[in-house]
Amino acid sequence: MADVVIIGGGLTGLGTAVELADRGAEVVVLEKDGLGFEQTVRSNAALRLPGPGPLAIESESVTGASMVGWDQFEDRFGEDIELDRGGWSTLVVDDDDRAWLAAQSTTLGVSEQIDLTALTPPDEVRARWPALAGEFLGMHTKPGGHVNRMRVVAALHRAALARGARFSVGTMAVGFDLSRRKITAVRTLQERFSCQQVVIAGGVWTPRLLDALGTRVPMQRVRVPSGETAPIGDRLFPGFIRAGKFTMRQSADGVVRFGGGYRAPEYVHDLSLDDVRDLRTWAPALLHHVRGATFRVDWAIARNDLRRRRRRLRNGPDFVPTGWEPRPWRRYSESKLASAARVVPSLANHRLQRTSSGVVDITPDFEPYVGRVPTADNAWVAAGMSGHGFILGPGTWRAVAEGIVDGRSALDLRPYRVDRFAQLP
Ligand SMILES: Cc1cc2nc3c(=O)[nH]c(=O)nc-3n(C[C@H](O)[C@H](O)[C@H](O)COP(=O)(O)OP(=O)(O)OC[C@H]3O[C@@H](n4cnc5c(N)ncnc54)[C@H](O)[C@@H]3O)c2cc1C
Repeated sequence: MADVVIIGGGLTGLGTAVELADRGAEVVVLEKDGLGFEQTVRSNAALRLPGPGPLAIESESVTGASMVGWDQFEDRFGEDIELDRGGWSTLVVDDDDRAWLAAQSTTLGVSEQIDLTALTPPDEVRARWPALAGEFLGMHTKPGGHVNRMRVVAALHRAALARGARFSVGTMAVGFDLSRRKITAVRTLQERFSCQQVVIAGGVWTPRLLDALGTRVPMQRVRVPSGETAPIGDRLFPGFIRAGKFTMRQSADGVVRFGGGYRAPEYVHDLSLDDVRDLRTWAPALLHHVRGATFRVDWAIARNDLRRRRRRLRNGPDFVPTGWEPRPWRRYSESKLASAARVVPSLANHRLQRTSSGVVDITPDFEPYVGRVPTADNAWVAAGMSGHGFILGPGTWRAVAEGIVDGRSALDLRPYRVDRFAQLP
């Protein structure tokens, strides 16, 4: 019997396992594929760090605790995760970017609030980073940067093992044994895992696990394509840069990776039947970035949904699919490289070596679900990171562990309540 079974061995499950084991809990992590297999190893892994800035982030917030957590990660665990402290920069390329930033303050829930009268002028940026020789109006940098996502997964895995956590990889949770409102065991395709508490950190598949407990949360699977160059010898620019039409980061090995920008994230919404049912809840979020979004029905998902529905009628709500591979979008990633090359002209000499896609678990307000499951007495959820699971990582892991071990967390979890869309039918 484990104290806590964690469903999902992505960033959230791994980090939570470390924090729980650190507090003396006996932890078992169940992962249906490989550790970090879904969103985590496809991520840009850009994050914020503590420091003086225009946004005062309170120390009791999950965001603030996460900044501190990343700042101290390498020292705390004795691991090199290639933490790049080059900054979280907003690049204003043209008047359209400026107008957009003046009118809006967030992209997918991540604040863009910057003082447009206090941009670092291009000449000053180029004096430090000559590769940014193209046209732009200015740049604003907050403390932040990025990490090597693979190294983070390996580091958290080692830290959890060192603290006594156990892992069952290739093990898919398919349901729960319940005694009244209490989970007594997590059922998998192979065996049952008896436990005192459960943490559901299953990323995009979390709503299906919550369904089995009678809790419904709206969540969309949004496909996020990205492209990478081969390693480039020169260090071209610092940290993580977001422009209106692209984002870019350069890893320690020199690879430059591109994604969608703040003005046009151009994410692909792979609509499911549940999304159509929850359309009213989604409307404000979808309208917010409708120009950049593409909506399509993914027939593989739709078929899966229908199969699940039929199965649910027969066996109860316990089916989670596996092995779903989101398709890359090469033309999209090439257009990001082309936009970036207008600011960093030397990028025009490089081609994409690799394209890939990940799915992110988006909620209607782009905030995650972190807290107790309303319909079960001993279950927690930490999912729906809405494209910022790294930004919110260490604070989330700590909050869940404190909640389970101490009964409450010093961090404010009110914005992330699981039942905040409870008006759903
Ligand atoms: C292209 C891309 C770029 C991104 N860029 C950034 C960024 O720059 N900054 C940032 O903060 N965030 C970014 N994100 C988001 C961030 O990567 C995610 O929020 C974070 O990785 C989520 O981690 P997770 O553990 O919650 O989910 P996941 O990594 O998806 O992990 C969930 C795990 O649960 C497992 N699982 C699901 N169901 C079951 C089951 N029934 N039984 C057993 N296991 C199960 C899955 O196999 C999976 O491994 C990006 C994401 C993508 C895709």
